[in-house]
Amino acid sequence: MAEHEREREHVKVAVIGTGFGGLGAAVRLRREGITDFVVLERAGAVGGTWRDNSYPGCACDVPSHLYSFSFAPNPEWPRTFSGQEHIWKYLEHVADTFGLRPHIRFNSEVKQMRWDNDALHWEIDTSAGSITAEVVVSATGPLSDPKVPDIEGLDGFEGKVFHSARWDHDYDLRGKRVAMIGTGASAIQIVPAIQAEVERMTLFQRTPPWVMPRADRPISGAERWLHRQLPFTTSARRGLLWGIRELQVQAFTKRPNELGLVESIAKRNMKRAIKDPALRDKLTPSYRIGCKRILLSNTYYPALAQPNVDVVASGLKEVRGNTLVASDGTETEVDAIIFGTGFHVTDMPIAERVIGADGRTLAETWTGGMNSLRGATAAGFPNWMTIIGPNTGLGNSSMILMIESQLNYMADYLRQVDVLGGRAALDARPTAVQGWNDRVQERMKRTVWNTGGCNSWYLDENGRNTTIWPGTTTEFRAATRRVDLAEYDVLRPAAQANRAGRPAEKVEADA
Ligand code: NAP
Repeated sequence: MAEHEREREHVKVAVIGTGFGGLGAAVRLRREGITDFVVLERAGAVGGTWRDNSYPGCACDVPSHLYSFSFAPNPEWPRTFSGQEHIWKYLEHVADTFGLRPHIRFNSEVKQMRWDNDALHWEIDTSAGSITAEVVVSATGPLSDPKVPDIEGLDGFEGKVFHSARWDHDYDLRGKRVAMIGTGASAIQIVPAIQAEVERMTLFQRTPPWVMPRADRPISGAERWLHRQLPFTTSARRGLLWGIRELQVQAFTKRPNELGLVESIAKRNMKRAIKDPALRDKLTPSYRIGCKRILLSNTYYPALAQPNVDVVASGLKEVRGNTLVASDGTETEVDAIIFGTGFHVTDMPIAERVIGADGRTLAETWTGGMNSLRGATAAGFPNWMTIIGPNTGLGNSSMILMIESQLNYMADYLRQVDVLGGRAALDARPTAVQGWNDRVQERMKRTVWNTGGCNSWYLDENGRNTTIWPGTTTEFRAATRRVDLAEYDVLRPAAQANRAGRPAEKVEADA
């Protein structure tokens, strides 16, 4: 029997990914009383970016009591800023505690999903078979597909090459000459973690980052006991961490000049560790702090001051045999190259695998840049929504807050579809999408991310900021509390729409 003739499994909701977004969606679905769903995961374990990023020194820059689900507080966080292994363990714990495992299909990579206009459902092909779903919740995350720049001659390099998010733990770095490419949040954690064991470390720095001190410390046994015994103390701690960031964000979104004060703290942080003025010059950024993500480290600058470290203040341009050539002509022979060059964020590969109502992929629809309605839905892609969609990223607070707001939106979306009754789908109106994006971009004009004089991964190839939310998390929560049906067309199966005397398929929402 041909594949398409076989009875395919059908579910109400297919969630893609088991990072914070996907697991959060699964918990919320169960809480909404929905059990007819699957979670498709390409790997063999949950955790998303916190499973994949296992590089030495990997930790989160957002305090753990805020970087966790409000519905799953963890009194046992060992440090104020926990390491990758603890965050990953937390996600495993969430999957177990909320009974999510029976829903998860591991080793099921989504190859393609197509919207079927007649059946009003998504056809999803995965590496483990096909399935249909009324609603897709895509939680694949913006930091999931590593980006390696297209460097001339890289294929001819005979040493070891890997990306920070695909760390090769079998490769022994001891005694090796290592090139670290990039100076983002990943690289500045890797450098101090491996500097002492390598023979020579050459850091290719295209743009210096602003690095602030990191107020990291173990959470004492007494604090943890208190959080266990009196759970409101965990919530109070979270509330305080959230409130501070909620106030701070005004400087990022409205008054970037105020951030100048913060630059002096970062400069002092550098001066404490780097005594060589020439090296300090190399490491001093020329853009406003906050324009790129502010990095936190007490060990990065001390590592750069060590005699086995060279900073090449230029990007990697070419590889000739085992010699790396920087844009400024500097040549360095190395045994291994570690790319800390980030992720495909504004050009995420999953967009090429989503085919909407008019037969075009999401990537084709987004050639002018990513855009969505309220960071969740896209015109022409009915009943498809994404977690951490366009313009939902944060520069200074916890993404878990944004994810939970998006889960509110998801829950209301599913409720609205149910209330409509029968078979129905919602399709974001292009005017609503346009209106939302115009408002977001208008607010973006004043932000440090757009005015700070840097080039960051927050901007797409057209220079448009399609990643960051230019407001407070409270504003985003309010904007995603409910689905406004006036922003959607209601789709019905063709036959049903005709019976109602309406044009086939598209039925105006009575909102
Ligand atoms: P990233 O911030 O995108 O940094 C990529 C780095 O690669 C940049 O410094 C970039 O230089 C550099 N680069 C690209 N091509 C280069 C070339 N040819 N030569 C030299 N350098 C080159 O990536 P990331 O560090 O993986 O971080 C991504 C995001 O993940 C972070 O912003 C953060 O949101 C998250 N993250 C968080 C943590 C944490 O919480 N501590 C840790 C890791 C990651 P330019 O600056 O010149 O573009």
